[in-house]
Amino acid sequence: MGQEQSTFISEDTPPQNLSERSLAAVADFIKSGRARRIVVMTGAGISTAAGIPDFRSPETGLYANLAALNLPEPEAVFDLAFFQQNPRPFYALARELYPGARYRPTVSHAFLALLARKNLLHVLFTQNIDCLERAAGVPPDRIIEAHGSFATQRCIDCREPFADDAKMRESVERGEVPRCERVVGRDEDETDGIGGKEQDEERRCGGLVKPDIVFFGEALPKAFFERSGAVQEADLVLVMGTSLQVHPFAGLPNMAEEEVPRVLFNLERVGSFGTRADDVMVLGDCDAGVRKLADALGWRDELEKAWRELVGDEEAERQLQGAAKRLAALHDEVGKLAEEVEEALHIDEKEGDQEVVKESQKGQDRDASAAGSAEQTEESVKGEAGSNTNLPDAEPRPEEKGSPSRNNNSASQDSTEQGEKTDGADKAKETAA
Ligand SMILES: [Zn+2]
Repeated sequence: MGQEQSTFISEDTPPQNLSERSLAAVADFIKSGRARRIVVMTGAGISTAAGIPDFRSPETGLYANLAALNLPEPEAVFDLAFFQQNPRPFYALARELYPGARYRPTVSHAFLALLARKNLLHVLFTQNIDCLERAAGVPPDRIIEAHGSFATQRCIDCREPFADDAKMRESVERGEVPRCERVVGRDEDETDGIGGKEQDEERRCGGLVKPDIVFFGEALPKAFFERSGAVQEADLVLVMGTSLQVHPFAGLPNMAEEEVPRVLFNLERVGSFGTRADDVMVLGDCDAGVRKLADALGWRDELEKAWRELVGDEEAERQLQGAAKRLAALHDEVGKLAEEVEEALHIDEKEGDQEVVKESQKGQDRDASAAGSAEQTEESVKGEAGSNTNLPDAEPRPEEKGSPSRNNNSASQDSTEQGEKTDGADKAKETAA
């Protein structure tokens, strides 16, 4: 499960279930009533427009906040041993990400809720911990939060659930770390003379309470394994905004029956997409792809209306402007690369002059790096969309565990990341000072 196959379907291979490999054909397939059990897998990319920060990105205030809390490394925020010593950095992050605190659903989330309302959503598997699927109105019993969520919490010592959600929310808002209240015994007050039995002190567990977010080395929720079989019942699979790099989540799309159409909404091709006859890839911004599908389905007005009612016009505009900015940044980058290539080519044309030969050499170097230009551009955007890391496949690592961590450091970014981290830390120090 999960390994990428190397054989891509050739253009000549006809699809089995779709009339063609296109979004329009997918819409027809849904409209024909043949897709009644749609299984969806989502990742950080569907929350990008919401502004959920990449907690390691130095540009976000969030990273600076965490740096100010003296984390040995950003990943420590999802490390159980570190949490035991110092839960405050995690709670700083929790305060930021807590459902309802700051972030609102995207149009992609609203689309999932729409699928559920139309009784087409069989199961939604999400890697995100932001609970925005719930916030959008997807019924909780349809959602499998593969990397946990803030929806429930428990004591890390005795595993007792901490049931008082209101108290939990209050603690998080105040930046306090809640403690387990399970009564483990009574301290008989031997000198008790005044108040009698009421004076007996209840002894409480007092362990640290942690939201049920999967930390390093922790098992995925049981529900993930119990429900993963639902993928085999799917008659249509939608994969949205995930780079499918971390197993076992990454293996889910491959569990669908071979002839079941699979649609990918992501900045780039991932996993085994493209190896099956009914794979459709909608590459680009996730929300944009979802809007295209909604158009093809004739659901666009309904979708936009539902989304605006959910988030309000102001937030809707903010998200739309953010999307425009991301697109502009992408165009800028592509433009710059194109200019550089152009320049290098021109210089190559003039030969002879030593000066120019040197330049030409530089140009070739640049050209060489520009050979991967599309890829580089994609990578940097991928960063924004929070698709993912070059992680070893073995087990989910915290950066994959949910959206705050979604971290897309490609190897090339890794090399520069250290410097950025330092910058972030410095900035944080400056801010703190
Ligand atoms: Zn406890």
